[in-house]
Amino acid sequence: MKPWIALGGIVPNLLRAPQAISHSRILENLLHFCQEFKNQKLHVFGIGGTATLHIAALLGIHSVDSSGWRNRAARGLIQLPGTGERVIADLGNWRGRRLSEDEFNQLKNCPCPACRQHGVEGLKASGVVGFSNRATHNLWVLLEEARLIEEHLLARTYKDWYKEHLDNTMYRPLIDRLVETSLSQYAGAIDSRLISLSNCLES
Ligand SMILES: [Zn+2]
Repeated sequence: MKPWIALGGIVPNLLRAPQAISHSRILENLLHFCQEFKNQKLHVFGIGGTATLHIAALLGIHSVDSSGWRNRAARGLIQLPGTGERVIADLGNWRGRRLSEDEFNQLKNCPCPACRQHGVEGLKASGVVGFSNRATHNLWVLLEEARLIEEHLLARTYKDWYKEHLDNTMYRPLIDRLVETSLSQYAGAIDSRLISLSNCLES
């Protein structure tokens, strides 16, 4: 038996399923799927949003990767802890949500290498410079999110922490249900099946 299994679009596609499919149905499918491979390490391609990282961790997926952080950077979008993407640079016709005042203030104190050196202006820049700053920022935010998820799951503080930390993303109801089922049912399993992202976001 192969120790690792790498999966393409199945999980991301399930997560993107139309609203008509109920969350409990999606959850059932995801859990069933992970149970099928419970003796193997699962690597899933195509998961790379802050909210979907929570889902992957709660499902016990070992590692994920996605080029989403780079695609977003190229489209002038940045990622933020615990919430979705925001438009920071106006590049062409991409539309999306803008930063709120709170988010902007939070961003001014972002400790990532790009923001420490070039600030918010660096994220707004055009060309290769802006792209590099946004890509660095986005990857840093994802790695930090993964680190926090792991820390809180291990400390068993996840259940209280995520409610404060995670915005009302479209995935929130799914995460709520996963916390209910996954954390009680798989409490022991989660320790040994934590997400490990460090080498995997490179794609
Ligand atoms: Zn930053």
